Amino acid sequence: MSIPSKIPMVDLRSQYLKIKNEIDAGINEVLDTTAFINGPAVKKFQAALENYLNVKHVIPCANGTDALQIAMMALGLKPGDEVITASFTYVATAEVIGLLGLTPVLVDVNPSTFNIDVEAVEKHITPKTKAIVPVHLFGQCADMNRLMALAEQHNLFVIEDTAQALGANYNFNGTSRKAGTIAHIGSTSFFPSKNLGCYGDGGALMTNDDELAAKMRMIAHHGQRIQYYHDVLGVNSRLDTIQAAVLNAKLPHLDNYAAARNKVADKYDQAFGGHPKMKIPVRAENSNHVFHQYTLVLQDVNRTVLREKLAEKGIASMIYYPVPLHMQKAFGSERYKPGDFPVTEALCASVLSLPIHTEMTEEVQDYIITNVLELI
Ligand SMILES: *Cc1c(COP(=O)(O)O)cnc(C)c1O
Repeated sequence: MSIPSKIPMVDLRSQYLKIKNEIDAGINEVLDTTAFINGPAVKKFQAALENYLNVKHVIPCANGTDALQIAMMALGLKPGDEVITASFTYVATAEVIGLLGLTPVLVDVNPSTFNIDVEAVEKHITPKTKAIVPVHLFGQCADMNRLMALAEQHNLFVIEDTAQALGANYNFNGTSRKAGTIAHIGSTSFFPSKNLGCYGDGGALMTNDDELAAKMRMIAHHGQRIQYYHDVLGVNSRLDTIQAAVLNAKLPHLDNYAAARNKVADKYDQAFGGHPKMKIPVRAENSNHVFHQYTLVLQDVNRTVLREKLAEKGIASMIYYPVPLHMQKAFGSERYKPGDFPVTEALCASVLSLPIHTEMTEEVQDYIITNVLELI
């Protein structure tokens, strides 16, 4: 083995090669049967994911952004309703809130876990608030015990954005629950680089509520329960059968994938823990971590220069996320100003994510560690 000239953030090819037979067989079966839309592989995956997550209903859909939109449509949220979410997240979470004419109310995050700050949520609840969307950022769960209690107290819906934490376990008031199955609805994404990624776009919704499940299924299929009878306005959002076949091959490996990611994270922790210029990821209470990202907080480091130097050594690094949502042009800059969410702003200015994936060799990781320690 040797060090590749370019070390990417994720290595999907090595992962594919290890399970090529399973993947290819699944895809070939779809090709042979030409069951491209809602083929048997989709139903099979739905059942397998329900079983894995121990949840009553999984509703597959086209992507994680659609999943969030379908969830909010199913909850009957109306223009003017306020939905609280974190300013430190991927744009999709807040985007669909705005697209539906709802008002995204952004709040700051916890400086240790990077997840939504429950006290900040509480402060932003008004008579117009209808829902909270916590994001399980980078692979570990938000403080769902306190969030669900708060939601119950104020009669609010909660949608867990689980796009980065599928497979994580959470200790919900003494019972172990899978991320995405704790709130009224969970949403997830199967974007290729996510922990359970397909080979294109894909997503799903999770719920234990029969009525919400029926509504979401209907909305995802043009608002119809019976073909050509449209009871409500819906969307067209299906999980492609070929993608379902890929996911059927990959789901049995998901726990091993999480273990492999944790092994990489532990090694980074050991190498960087206690370093004066780096803060290693803090493990949240009550949640395990599936390390969608391994994200350091840098202190007194010129991040741009460090990234350039790492790139010269062929080492990829990323900033998730460089601009807080409240500072994005698309999100009503007139409602927010710099300084509104100091934790989010400080994180955006100082985080750095390093390559982490299921196939990282010790040799490659040693090379990354040596270079980070030397160049920082
Ligand atoms: C990836 C992601 C999404 C969107 O998923 P897509 O499948 O790309 O639409 C939503 N929320 C978060 C937090 C994500 O990381």
